[in-house]
Formats: sequence, C-alpha cells, structure tokens
Amino acid sequence: MNSPNSCEQHLFLQPFWDYILTEFGDIVSSPFFPVLLAFSGYLCFSFPFAIIDILGERCPLLYQYKIQKNKFPTVKMMILCIWKAVYNHVIYVFPAVFLNWLWIPPGPLPQNAPTVCTLLGEVLGCLLLFDFQYFVWHVLHHKNHWLYKKVHAVHHKYVAPFSWSSQNLGGYELMTVGFWSSMNPIRLGCHPLTSWTCNLLSVWMSVDDHIGYNFPWSLSKIVPWGLYGGVIAHDLHHQKPDTNFAPFFGHWDLICGTSCV
Ligand SMILES: [Zn+2]
Ligand SMILES: [Zn+2]
Repeated sequence: MNSPNSCEQHLFLQPFWDYILTEFGDIVSSPFFPVLLAFSGYLCFSFPFAIIDILGERCPLLYQYKIQKNKFPTVKMMILCIWKAVYNHVIYVFPAVFLNWLWIPPGPLPQNAPTVCTLLGEVLGCLLLFDFQYFVWHVLHHKNHWLYKKVHAVHHKYVAPFSWSSQNLGGYELMTVGFWSSMNPIRLGCHPLTSWTCNLLSVWMSVDDHIGYNFPWSLSKIVPWGLYGGVIAHDLHHQKPDTNFAPFFGHWDLICGTSCV
C-alpha cells in the first residue's frame, strides 16, 4: 500500500502522464520514438552553440569562456558532423531498432506515472551505470591501439570539440552508446518516462561535454568536489587523450588516477 507521501508524488506526475498517453499515445508507443527524441535533442541542444561558434570573437560576452581560444569550427566541419549523425542513424540505428521491434514486440505503456522520487532515483542510477560502462569501454579503446584506430579515432578527429562533434562517432561506437542509454532503463525495469528522460539527459550531457565553453553555469562548476567532469574534463580529453575517460561524472577518473583538470 502506498504511503500518503508516495501517493502525492504519484499525483504530481499522473496528470502529465495521462496527457502524454491521451494526446500522444500513438507517437510515444512507436519503437522509433526514443531514437527520434534523442536525435531531436542532439539538434536542439547543439544548434545554439553553433551560433555562438559562428559569432566567435564578435560576441566577447560568451567568447571569454571559450576553452581553446582561436580554435573555431568551420561551417563545413559542422555540416560533416551532422551528416555523419544522419548517416549513422539511417544505416545503423533505424534498422537495428526495427529488427529489435520485430524480435521483441513492446508491451503496452503503463497507465500509472512513476513517483518523483522513483523517477529521479532511476535516472541517476541509469546515468551512473552508463558512465561506468562507457568509462571501461573508453579506456579499452584508448589502450588497445587496434581498437583505437579502427573504432574510436573517428571521434578524436577534432582536438577542439564543438557541439555537433558529440555525435562524430563511428557506427559501432554510436550503436554501443545508444544500446546502453536505451536498453539500461528497459533492462532495469524502469518506467518509460525514466527511459526518455535518460535519453534526453544523456544527449544533453554529451553535447555539453563538447561545447568548448566553460560557462559559469556549467554543471562541472556547480557540482562540488570534482564529482562531475563535464566540459572542462572532456575538452582536456580531446587534447590529452590518456586522461578523463568518463563521459559525465568524475569519480572513476579520480579513483583510477586518470583525472586531469
Ligand atoms: Zn568527445
Ligand atoms: Zn576518447
């Protein structure tokens, strides 16, 4: 039986969940919805920083926070990254999602919303799990020369990252990352709202890692004790590839002695 507090939390998200099911039930039931959500997130989160990059020194208010000053992406570099992301989705991601849908048809969406505490706990748990999985994968693909050359080198094409370059990935790397970020919440039995929130947050944090600007409101500055690596850590990873392997949080690099900030 739910405690009164947990009922209140249920009620908090229930109207929103009811609205989603009533108005967008067909759309959110589609197996392609999480992919389209993540890809739309990539475009929306990256676009404002492309404008900031194009403005460059003409906007000193923002330019002062550029990490690698005087290293700006060209429009051609931006288009190449977007093209790579579209290509990877058409050739790898959409066919994989379609085959998965044929193999394991999804069940109906739940009628009840999660509690706020459940949602936040599940999201944090899934992000921490993803962070660990990618940390191990990332170390392996840097330490093994063959794996680096064949798989991960694509992502290191740019020493000075920019927002669109977060998805400058080989097909295998994107599939691996996409598999973890989409399947972790499902395998752990999380609510669909958790899965979608995780998808969007992962994309946002990944874009944030690559924007190339260390703004005062960056998460890495807000979260204390170096627990969140964020943009400054990942920008350094592109400059010194033997450091800062974790994608989001800072604890694994601190524990393993690979942290550099
Ligand atoms: Zn990167
Ligand atoms: Zn790397």
